[in-house]
Amino acid sequence: MTLRVDVDQAATIRRSLRYPLAGTHPACAGARVTQTGIHELDEVERIIAAGGSGGSGVESRTLCEIDCGAGRLPLRAIALGNPDPAVPAIGIFGGVHGLETIGAQVVIAFLESIVSRLRWDTTLHRQLEQVRLVFVPAVNPGGMWQRTRANPNGVDLMRNAPLEARERVPFLIGGHRLSPRLPWYRGAVDAPLEAETAAVCQLVDDELLGHRFSMVIDCHSGFGVNDRIWFPYAHTALPIPHLAEMHALLEILDQTHSHHRYVFEPQSRQYLAHGDLWDYLYLRALEQADRVFLPLTLEMGSWLWVRKNPRQLFSRHGIFNPLIEHRRQRVLRRHLAWLDFMTRAASGHALWRPVGEARELHRQRAMQRWYGGLPP
Ligand SMILES: [Zn+2]
Repeated sequence: MTLRVDVDQAATIRRSLRYPLAGTHPACAGARVTQTGIHELDEVERIIAAGGSGGSGVESRTLCEIDCGAGRLPLRAIALGNPDPAVPAIGIFGGVHGLETIGAQVVIAFLESIVSRLRWDTTLHRQLEQVRLVFVPAVNPGGMWQRTRANPNGVDLMRNAPLEARERVPFLIGGHRLSPRLPWYRGAVDAPLEAETAAVCQLVDDELLGHRFSMVIDCHSGFGVNDRIWFPYAHTALPIPHLAEMHALLEILDQTHSHHRYVFEPQSRQYLAHGDLWDYLYLRALEQADRVFLPLTLEMGSWLWVRKNPRQLFSRHGIFNPLIEHRRQRVLRRHLAWLDFMTRAASGHALWRPVGEARELHRQRAMQRWYGGLPP
C-alpha cells in the first residue's frame, strides 16, 4: 500500500499541521517508530525523546506520516527559540533526497550540537531569544528507508512543486512526467502535491513566512566537486528580486570565513528545473511585500569523495555520501561552521541587509558577478 494523497488526505494533513508544536500529533500517539534501523531517522527520534524531557525548549511535531511499504514513518519537525513573528527565523532541512544521507547527517549534527549546549551555553540562550530555529532533518523518510532519491511514490520532491520552468530544462534531470521509474519524476500532471511537499509548504507557511525575515538552508549532496550554496531561481535564468540581499550575505560570509571554499551562486548558473520547491515558496513569499524570505540550498560536492576513493562508484550510496569516516567527519565539521554562521546571519540580518543606495550597489555588483553585467 503506497501513500497517494488525495484531496481529503491533503486536507487532513493541513489540519494536522494546525496543532501547536508540542509533543507528537495525537494520531501518532503510541505509534512512534523508535527503531527503524536507519541511522538518521533513529537519531531524530532520539533527539526528540531526549529534548522532550523537562522544559528544555525543544519542541517537536509530526507533520504527516509516510507509508513506506513496511510501515508508516513520521515526518518530524523540531523547533527552538523565540516564536515571535518580529524576530527572524531560519529553517534547516535535509534528507529531501533519500539517498543523500550526508545532508540529513549535517542537519542532525548541528541540531544535536545546539540541543546539547542548551544545558550550559548561556550565549546560546541569548541567541535563541532573538531567533526561531526550525529543523526538518529527514524530509523524505520513506526515501531514506528505501534508499532511493525519490519518495515511496517515485516522485522527486525537489521537482514536485506546481511551477513550470520558463526556459528549456535539461532532459530528465530538469524534471519530467514520463514515469516514476525514472529519476527526477515530477508526479502526474493533475496529482495533488506529495504529502512531504505539502508538509514542507505548510511548515514554511506556519513557521517561517509569518516572520518578517526568514531564511532556509536545504542540505543536499551529489553535484560536482565543489561545495555550492545555491539561491533561486531554478526555473528561470532571470535574477531574483532579492539579489542584493544574496550578494550582501556572500560578502559577510567572505569576511567572516575568509578561507571558505563554497561556490555561492544562483542555481540557474548550473541547470534549470521544473517544479523546484524553493522557487515555488520564494515566489509565494514575494506576495507579501513586507516579508523577506531567502531560501538557500547547500549542494555538497560528492564527486571529490568519489575521486579520492573511486571504489565508492560501485555503491549507489557512495556516489552521494563520503564512505570513509575521517572524510565524513571533515564534511560535518566544515558545514557545521557554516550553519552556525547562517543562524547568526539570520539573527543579525538588520545589520547586514543593505538598504537604499547600498542595496542598489549590491545589486549591480551581483549582476556583474553572476549575470554578466547589467540588463539593458
Ligand atoms: Zn538532492
